[in-house]
Formats: sequence, structure tokens, C-alpha cells
Amino acid sequence: MKKRVVVAIDGPAAAGKSTVSKAVAKILGYTYIDTGAMYRAFTSYVLDKGVDPQDEKASCALIPEVKITLYPDGKVMCSGKDVTRIIREPLVSGNVSYIASYKDIRLALVEQQRRMAGEQSVVMDGRDIGTYVLPNADVKVFMVASVKERADRRYKENMEKGIPCTYEDIVADVEKRDRIDSSRAFAPLKPAEDSVRLDTSDLSIEESINAVLKIIKDKVGE
Ligand code: C5P
Repeated sequence: MKKRVVVAIDGPAAAGKSTVSKAVAKILGYTYIDTGAMYRAFTSYVLDKGVDPQDEKASCALIPEVKITLYPDGKVMCSGKDVTRIIREPLVSGNVSYIASYKDIRLALVEQQRRMAGEQSVVMDGRDIGTYVLPNADVKVFMVASVKERADRRYKENMEKGIPCTYEDIVADVEKRDRIDSSRAFAPLKPAEDSVRLDTSDLSIEESINAVLKIIKDKVGE
């Protein structure tokens, strides 16, 4: 039987993690798990209920109601609603880091993430995968890029998808999320000690994919 391989890809907002992780998973035949989509889905539920995402108690009270399902084609369902598109909109992006800083919400979603990783080979991307969710991952990549490069990419992506935003808003959003994600008390964004740092600022998508494939090959021979 083929060896099970677990790949953790962490890094700041819009560093290219999901595009690269998705492609690497496809090439290797692994399952891709986008943990950011889960925090985003929870945030959209909180907003739908008219709850203030900065209200920890009220947001955490919704945990029993929130059921998130990620589908292989990228569709995201949250408690019966298709949230695939809405979770990429600025209102969700601007509030998700508050929701992701609440310990009880993280514990609930991390439990689901570990279950989803199950017995299969996976590429899981997020902020705390190598440090907290899957600390025994075979391969850990910490993907970074300059704020300018990340904002440029995210702006282009939003324009292509028809998601309304301004460039200035994107820069502010990326900087704000980095700040909150890195400074939260529980499972903050930081490189795992045994992670490989990959700066994608000057790399194309294809070069970034190849760089991650090489890191995996060097570690596990896949
Ligand atoms: O990866 P993405 O940018 O879609 O993640 C959205 C937000 O979800 C992040 O800014 C962060 O606040 C939160 N997140 C997290 N831990 C993860 C994945 C995402 O805190 N493992």
C-alpha cells in the first residue's frame, strides 16, 4: 500500500497557499483541505444571524448550529446554505480574523479538520496546521510573500471573480488579518520549527507549485 503523506502549508493572508496547495494535491492525488474556508464559513453564519463578529460570547454561542462541509470541487456549504461565493467577499474577509481568534470556535473547527485529514494523504492549508492541527505532518511549508505582491494577486483574483473591492481595501485587509492572526493568544500564525520557508514574491504560480513539489519529494520521496 502507498504511504500516507500529510502536507501542511501555512502562511499569511494571500501568500498563494490555496492556489498552490490545490494544484499540488491534484498532481499528487491527495485530498486538499482549505481550513480558511471553514473560518470564513463560520464568519458568514455569524453575520447572517446579525451577531457582531467582535462579540466572542455571542459568536461562540452559535457553535452547535454551525455545520460546515467542504466538497472536492471547492463548494462550501454551511448549515444548509451554499456560501462558496459569499465567503470571499470583503465583509467576510474583514471579520474572519476576529472569529478565528476565539478559542472555542478554533477547537470545534480543528476537531473537524483532524477528522477530515483522517487516514488519507492530504494537503491542508491554513495558519496553524504545522504548529497545532497536524504537528506530525510529514512536510511543513511556511509560504510567504511581500504585502505588495500579496495585495496585487488578491486584487487581480477578486477582479477576475467579479468580487467588488478597491486596491487600498485589499492592502488594509491583508495587513489587518496578518496582525490579528499573528498576535492572537491561541494557535497564532507562526512558522513551525521544522517548516521549510518558501518566499513566493518573485515566483510564478507554476514555479511555486514546482517548489512545493520539490520540498515534498526531498522529504518523502513522492
Ligand atoms: O486562508 P484564508 O485567508 O482564506 O483564511 C481566512 C482567515 O481564517 C485567516 O485570515 C485567519 O484569520 C483564519 N484562519 C485561521 N487558521 C487557519 C486558517 C485560516 O485562523 N488554519
